Amino acid sequence: MSEDKSLNFIEEIVEADLNSGKYQSILTRFPPEPNGYLHIGHAKSICLNFGLSQKYGGKTNLRFDDTNPSTEETEYVDSIKEDVKWLGFEWAEELYASNYFEQLYQFAVQLIEKGLAYVDDSASETIALEKGTPTQPGIENAFRSRTTAENLQLFSDMRAGKYKDGEKVVRAKIDMASSNMHMRDPIIYRIKHAHHHRTGDDWCIYPMYDFAHGQSDSIENITHSICTLEFIPHRPLYDWCIEKLEIFPSKQYEFARLNMTYTVMSKRKLLQLVTENHVNGWDDPRMSTISAMRRRGYPAQSIRDFCDKIGVAKRENLIDIGLLEFCVREQLNKTAYRRMVVFDPLKIVITNYPDTTEYLESENNPEDLSTGTRSIPFSKELFIEKDDFMELAPKKYFRLSPGQMVRLKSAYIIKCDEVIKDGDGNIKELHCSYIPESKSGSDTSGISVKGTLHWVSVATAIKAEIRLYDRLFKVEDVANAEGDFKDYINPDSLQIIANAFAEPALKTDDPSIGFQFIRKGYFVIDRDSTNDQLVFNRTVSLKDGWAKEVKKA
Ligand code: ATP
Ligand code: MG
Repeated sequence: MSEDKSLNFIEEIVEADLNSGKYQSILTRFPPEPNGYLHIGHAKSICLNFGLSQKYGGKTNLRFDDTNPSTEETEYVDSIKEDVKWLGFEWAEELYASNYFEQLYQFAVQLIEKGLAYVDDSASETIALEKGTPTQPGIENAFRSRTTAENLQLFSDMRAGKYKDGEKVVRAKIDMASSNMHMRDPIIYRIKHAHHHRTGDDWCIYPMYDFAHGQSDSIENITHSICTLEFIPHRPLYDWCIEKLEIFPSKQYEFARLNMTYTVMSKRKLLQLVTENHVNGWDDPRMSTISAMRRRGYPAQSIRDFCDKIGVAKRENLIDIGLLEFCVREQLNKTAYRRMVVFDPLKIVITNYPDTTEYLESENNPEDLSTGTRSIPFSKELFIEKDDFMELAPKKYFRLSPGQMVRLKSAYIIKCDEVIKDGDGNIKELHCSYIPESKSGSDTSGISVKGTLHWVSVATAIKAEIRLYDRLFKVEDVANAEGDFKDYINPDSLQIIANAFAEPALKTDDPSIGFQFIRKGYFVIDRDSTNDQLVFNRTVSLKDGWAKEVKKA
């Protein structure tokens, strides 16, 4: 975070707490539920929580909120750890809410002993009905007046497995007439005979989110527990539990979650996209997950920059996905290696060039000369892009046309002398001539041309598959669009170019590098690549083509 920026409201709170001496140092946590892969919204929470402790010299725990055994898996735990690390953050401790099951159980026992919790045998529908409505108070049922001894016995029997799922719950005894529905005797424990990814079959009762989250914060001495706005109405319960149990007074603060155009960001919806095969897995490069963005070639730095730019707000808004893409371009422009790849080839023959191969030097990245150069083989037969040639060209067409000259990037100026066609009149190849004195870097030809084309040498080109991605959804505000979000899937979000031709340096380039294919966009090597076939993902286009489409429409 840059020093000249004003503080966000959470930083103001933290600074006040440090200045007043309330805390000597801060401890935050990032608390994912391991029920899916992390998405860009989580990245915002990660950058905020870890960013605070970095800025103020504190620490951040990674705590898995794994209190719901039926949806959680070890695969998700592993992916979450990988993503946080990749984003560039180090947690102080790796913790699990399930580590605290015994402690949480004892907390519930303490509440029962204080007359502040009871076992309720009602069916869930009855409990819901008796809760009342926001305008009508709830009803206190007969189980509410059970004796402490009876409650303790029943709770222990619940733990021992005497009852089936849903037969009993434990509720905090607070206020059935509270204006806050969360305070109307919320359920704090439920029976669930399910295998847990870490505690196995040790438990058949599990704490509810509201009884696990705040207490886990307290157990770890979290100073600032930061979550999204939907938890505002949970805060009184968070404080109530801490007060009644007389444990470490962690405090909850809420910020606006990230919403982004053309994107869904709920794990439930992302899971649907995966299981119903609308995409090829959690890390399909069109997904909003961090693993998808990594695979697509987004640098971690660009995601951190994005989170910094959008800031921390108290009101929800919708962020333009173009801003994220802008951050990606800005970063890649500084780091990507320039390479040449022809997507749709047209063969040209340089008739006055000898039958040899010449190696031309060209910089890897003109923005960073320390990255050196690579050599590009140049020879008599080359491929250029089919749409870089026009037989009947309009005025101001600066690419190749009969009689016109262009520069081949890092090579020579050539002129198109003759268009060779097959029997059906289709263009087969172009015959060109080159100007030997026009070599890039030592051009003495005195000729100036307006167009520069990318190219590859036919003999040494390597075949590649190119995957071009577009927005996964056709509407801006997917989450608020009417009906099923899947109705808005863009059917053309993936376009595959099966037979592109790449310059040979790409065969030996480090796959972790991002590339700018000259005039084409930013690309990265995909893990589907084999020895025989390189596969590239388009990370982002050179310019924002979508903005133009929207203007046209
Ligand atoms: P989802 O609705 O996508 O399933 P979640 O809130 O259930 O997300 P958790 O694993 O519980 O996911 O979230 C871990 C942390 O990340 C929480 O503190 C949560 O508030 C935060 N978080 C989740 N989504 C966003 C978002 N879109 N923007 C900012 N923070 C988020
Ligand atoms: Mg959640």
